[in-house]
Amino acid sequence: MNRRFQSLLDIQKTKISCVDLVEFYLGQIQAQNASLNAFIEVWEKEARIRAKEIDEKIKKDTAGKLAGMVIGLKDNLLVKNQAASNSSKILSGFTSPYTASAIQKLLDEDAILIGRLNNDEFAMGSSNETSFYGPVKNAIDLERVPGGSSGGSAVAVQAEMCTAALGTDTGGSVRQPAAFTGTIGLKPSYGRISRYGVMSYASSFDQIGPISYSISDAAILLEVMSGKDPKDATSSSKKVEAYSALKPNEPKRIAYIEPEGLDDEVSKAYTYQIEKISASKHQLERISIDFADALVPTYYVLTTAEASSNLSRYAGMIYGHQSKKQNSLDEMIMQSRNEGFGPEVKRRIMTGTFILSEEHFEAYYTKALLVRRKIKNRLNEIFENFDAILSPTAPTVPFKLNEKKQDPIAMYLADQFTVMASLGGVCAISIPMKNITGKLPLGLQITCNSFCEKSLLNLANELV
Ligand code: GLN
Repeated sequence: MNRRFQSLLDIQKTKISCVDLVEFYLGQIQAQNASLNAFIEVWEKEARIRAKEIDEKIKKDTAGKLAGMVIGLKDNLLVKNQAASNSSKILSGFTSPYTASAIQKLLDEDAILIGRLNNDEFAMGSSNETSFYGPVKNAIDLERVPGGSSGGSAVAVQAEMCTAALGTDTGGSVRQPAAFTGTIGLKPSYGRISRYGVMSYASSFDQIGPISYSISDAAILLEVMSGKDPKDATSSSKKVEAYSALKPNEPKRIAYIEPEGLDDEVSKAYTYQIEKISASKHQLERISIDFADALVPTYYVLTTAEASSNLSRYAGMIYGHQSKKQNSLDEMIMQSRNEGFGPEVKRRIMTGTFILSEEHFEAYYTKALLVRRKIKNRLNEIFENFDAILSPTAPTVPFKLNEKKQDPIAMYLADQFTVMASLGGVCAISIPMKNITGKLPLGLQITCNSFCEKSLLNLANELV
């Protein structure tokens, strides 16, 4: 696909005004969104006003480092006085009273926000088919899914309707849609970016992550958003490095996994990629992940448990959808939830409630925590010997709409390579992987240890 701009640096080089830039993106949205369904709401008026203000700052030489970056936001991120619904009916009519800390940091550096983007309802899904607003379509083939849950964010970047977008990644929701759309998706280490103002799904996993068309944009967005936030006790006070100062790499020790059961196109592309890297200066070694079968089950036990607790706040009482059936308080709450949540969200809440119930807690929740610890220990061992781990981002090509919708297990397996980094709290990125036998976009995943984002980005910049 032809693109007008490759990155923020490219935009800044052309010296296009922010006013013209916003008009360009609004035109792109106007032309494509009806068929792609990526934007739920476009903030035309606000974006135009802000573009003028930032052009003034540029003239006076007082503009921040994101001047010229036009950003779309996943619909689970909060901006003061704007609606946000997590693509769910249950949040219809909700307007946020405050702005997420990470987004405030983007605004402080003069980014322009252009609207909110469709996602799987409550960020639960891998195909963007569970949204209350209908599915997002992959711009390369309208019959295919863009991945999920940040499908709208990925397609907005893929179809150049904004410079970059924010998604959230709990188990792969930034990386897998990036792989399916030929974009770049970064999941930072747990705690790198504040979660204040992110609607919670599974709080011990959730992280904001940028989706972009260039590594330099991913790096600068990470640099701006990272850091300790007093409003999020799980945010890290580890020093924020100059991620955007990308450097050539020293030779690295890189591990790769060789999974079975990949789609033929993925398998061929991955083999080609591994051969190419093994011919480079880096030292490449195959490893096996002995706990591979435990990854997806452990992830789903823990995330459904956390989700059932987090989503209990949506009761039709303080905000969002309230049922008209009001014979009793219990009935009102029950019906508001029944009418407001879609089937996948209900499935997760019920599974999580079962897992957390007194009779089953030990067998599922406690056990999954132990397995998570073992996974983390094994990752620590691997990172004692290697700087990075390579794998495909997803086992398949972007699949057809409705192909996996009725089969939750098949859908959950779409995350089999991404959940490891999420369980371990480490950082990972998906970069486009050359498809040597077909045309559909594919992703290569690079995983590095916690807070090694700098070397992750430098390596990604070399391999992209
Ligand atoms: N597809 C995974 C899930 O449904 C990941 C979602 C995410 O990262 N938000 O839980």
